[in-house]
Amino acid sequence: MDLITEEIKESKNFQILSKVFSYHYVNKDNLKPIISYDEFKEVLTNFIEEIMRNYLIKMSFADYRGKEPKVKIVDFKDNTNGDYHYNTIRLDETIPWNIFKGNTLDFFTPCHELIHFKYDTNLNAEIINKNTVRVAKETLIRHDAETAAPIFKYDYYSDNYKFNSEEKLANIEGVELFRKVIEYMNITLTREDDLKLLNISANNRIQYHNYLRDFRNGLKFNNFFMDFEEAFDFLIRDNPEWCSCPQLIIEYYQDGEGKVRKRTTEELQSILEREDDKDIKEYIQSLLVPNEDKRLYDGGFKQKKLNLKMPYNKYYKISNINNKKYCQE
Ligand SMILES: [Zn+2]
Repeated sequence: MDLITEEIKESKNFQILSKVFSYHYVNKDNLKPIISYDEFKEVLTNFIEEIMRNYLIKMSFADYRGKEPKVKIVDFKDNTNGDYHYNTIRLDETIPWNIFKGNTLDFFTPCHELIHFKYDTNLNAEIINKNTVRVAKETLIRHDAETAAPIFKYDYYSDNYKFNSEEKLANIEGVELFRKVIEYMNITLTREDDLKLLNISANNRIQYHNYLRDFRNGLKFNNFFMDFEEAFDFLIRDNPEWCSCPQLIIEYYQDGEGKVRKRTTEELQSILEREDDKDIKEYIQSLLVPNEDKRLYDGGFKQKKLNLKMPYNKYYKISNINNKKYCQE
């Protein structure tokens, strides 16, 4: 489901923004604004709220999951550009101002936050695909880390911000959303802006497929690096209630004794044969790709590796590639 539908493209807010974005982008060095800044802020805010309302309705949440979508312009007082939490997007006051001044690339921040909104809504709507399963798993790992007993508790989100899958997706898909809006507005980006977007996409794709997480601060993980899949498998056995999460019922189940089990290759294959949904099929197929480094034991769970995947320095270098902070939630 797309965030930008025909209704959105035909909306009055989109028409106004389209004129302002195009004119201000080209004339930014000698700008005579075509509407006032206050008016612009209002239209921009309404436009983003309209996208959220429209998406929620399309996903069968006519009641907006009990909370009216809202965009707030705030002063973050640090280097945060925006954040998202349950139908509310907050943007730092510099963002609308910069866009108004013709720095259209700053519209990437609302696009990034809209992707968080989309994933949040899709998880609620019980959408299953490779990405929502991954986001569901990491959300649960984070929940476990942040609600654990004091000795095990750690700030998973901050420690892993640069490798958090949902952040990577918000950047990758945020660029796609930005490009779509700009294209519908008939704006041609400068070479410089185009390259900046290409860089965000490329870096985030590498990081998304890298799988590394810094689990060293989690005492439960014994100082060994694990990918998020291994960490999740490690934790779900102590949290059998996670098996009922819609995104996890294909891969995990509780046996007669209440013990958490992982579906075997044969079981997954038979689920795959009965499945019609293209995204679910693709997800199951990705689980069936053989991985020879990973031995199996105890009900299909992976054997924990005893060697470090990567030396600390190399990890640290990669983690610094993209250190701009777009959101805290
Ligand atoms: Zn974010």
